[in-house]
Amino acid sequence: MTTDEKYMKEAIRQAKKAAAIGEVPIGCIIVYEDKIIGRGYNRRMVDHTVLAHAEILAMKKACKKMGDWRLEGCTMYITLEPCPMCAGAIVQARIPRVVVGSMNPKAGCAGSVMNLLQEPGFNHQVELEKGILEEECSTVLKEFFKALRKRKSLDK
Ligand SMILES: [Zn+2]
Repeated sequence: MTTDEKYMKEAIRQAKKAAAIGEVPIGCIIVYEDKIIGRGYNRRMVDHTVLAHAEILAMKKACKKMGDWRLEGCTMYITLEPCPMCAGAIVQARIPRVVVGSMNPKAGCAGSVMNLLQEPGFNHQVELEKGILEEECSTVLKEFFKALRKRKSLDK
């Protein structure tokens, strides 16, 4: 297993925490000098805020640990391609490297709908790694939605 795969597994573990509380399973971790300094999972519904995406929550923790709004020297691992809000925050935080599991064709801003992480017009571009444990990352999502549909059909 590569280092990227090892850390992506940790991000998947976070995603599963979201699934356990009925949230869409998306997980994120941030690594600095081979140490995890921020973890997050989607809590949009339980926290009643659109800001509670996995990446934002992980960034909050990592910034607190670093004592800085910049996350230079860090690598972020996300199970799903980031949305425009999170991609924007990643650029703002100057995160140098982002590793993505599965892609999000309808909302992703690391190349799917647009590529905010590598926009040449911005003052910061991200080194991007895609498709790390892609199968596993998308299976977590697929199983969540499958179970959700099943529950809904039982409710009828
Ligand atoms: Zn987001």
